[in-house]
This record gives sequence, structure tokens and C-alpha cells, in this order.
Amino acid sequence: MMKMILVLALMGLGFAGVAAASKSEKDIIPTSAGDLEITFLGHGTLMMTFGGKTIHVDPYGEVADYGRLPQADLILVTHDHYDHMCLESIGRILRPDTKLVGSGTCAGKLRDAAIMRNGETRTVMGLRIEAVPAYNIVHKRPDGGPWHPKGEGNGYVVTFGDKRVYIAGDTENIPEMKGLKDIDVAFLPMNLPYTMTPGMVAEAAGWIRPKILYPYHFGDTDTSALVRLLKNEKDIEVRIRKMS
Ligand code: ZN
Ligand code: ZN
Repeated sequence: MMKMILVLALMGLGFAGVAAASKSEKDIIPTSAGDLEITFLGHGTLMMTFGGKTIHVDPYGEVADYGRLPQADLILVTHDHYDHMCLESIGRILRPDTKLVGSGTCAGKLRDAAIMRNGETRTVMGLRIEAVPAYNIVHKRPDGGPWHPKGEGNGYVVTFGDKRVYIAGDTENIPEMKGLKDIDVAFLPMNLPYTMTPGMVAEAAGWIRPKILYPYHFGDTDTSALVRLLKNEKDIEVRIRKMS
């Protein structure tokens, strides 16, 4: 009897999980090699589908039931903070052949991960992946150190067909962003005090000039402030999705 109740309870949770996953917003980005589907799981966490493969970015168990999501062909981790490198969630989507890519701070913590340092480029699963810097200059911890020290975390520029997608990770508007070229889609973080204010994101967007800008990982920061700041930038489409 207890077993029966437990099974029914688990089934109930299962259905809730499916409902939660299907409620996530999705966008399709057409590329020369087929559609890139992006699922906005929330926070700094994304799932992408491309060429029949599933790519998870910064899995985090607070935003999704990973037992209910497709297992990963590739997992990208920007840095080792608990809300970006959630080992329990990663364990749920990991298959023996899953490829893992992490930053320097993930070394030794992510089993069999390819560790990419800032500035490195690799081709994984046929996708060109560039690891770019992600760090704080202005926003610091009470002890004076930056929330994200230079050289530890990564952003990634991933090329899907003819489209280049920049996932910035936890960073501020750092000078290296001025060197990013031909970015079609950019994800820029805006949760405070750890990353960027709307003004910093607007400045970064002016340097990067993505065709589509998704503020992500924005917590309680007011996205309408960013929309206002960029309203005269006709070549940058700001898309707001549920990524708090
Ligand atoms: Zn972080
Ligand atoms: Zn974060």
C-alpha cells in the first residue's frame, strides 16, 4: 500500500515536471545548417537543440527538473558557482558519451570535462567553441575581491551553421568584449551585485552589436531599463524571456 502511494506521488511529481518543462519559453534561430532551438529554462540556464543534438548550458536544479529533460550530447559550464555547475543536475543528463566543456575553475570537479582556458578554441561535436573571458572589474565582494576573478570563468561563443551565439557567463562589460565580432545572438547577465547593471549591459551591447540580445540571469534587475537604454539601437533586437 505504501509503495502504491509512493508510486502515485512520484507520478504526480513527474507530471508536474513535464508541465514545468513544457512551460519554458523557446525561440527558434534559423541557421544555414538548420534551426537552433533555444529553451529558456531560467537564471543563467539554457537548453539548445541543433542538428538532433541537445546542448545544456550551466545546468541548475532550481530552474528545471533534469530528470525530465533530454539527456545531454554536450554540456557547457561557464564556471564552478553552484548555480552554474550543479553536479546533481549534470548527473541526471549525463550519458557515457556526453561531452563536457568547463572553465579552469571546473578542473577536477567535472569528470572527463574538456577544460578550456580564456582564449582557447576547440571543435566539439562539430561545433566551433571559443572560450572568452568573464570577470568583474567594478563589482566586488565585501572582502574586496571581485565576485568573478579574471581568468577563472568562461563565456562561450558557439558557431551554429552561419550563426554565432555568445553566452557571456557571469561577467561585467569587460574590454575583451570589444573584440567580439559577428555575434548574431548574445546572452548578457544582469543580476546584481554579481554581474552587470542595465547601463553596463547597454554599453556591452553597443560594443558587441548582436542582432538579437537576450538579457539573462537577471534576478530582480529591471529589464525595462535595458529596453529603454537601447531603444534607439535599431539593429539590436532586445528580447526579454523568463530568465530571472
Ligand atoms: Zn557566478
Ligand atoms: Zn551566476
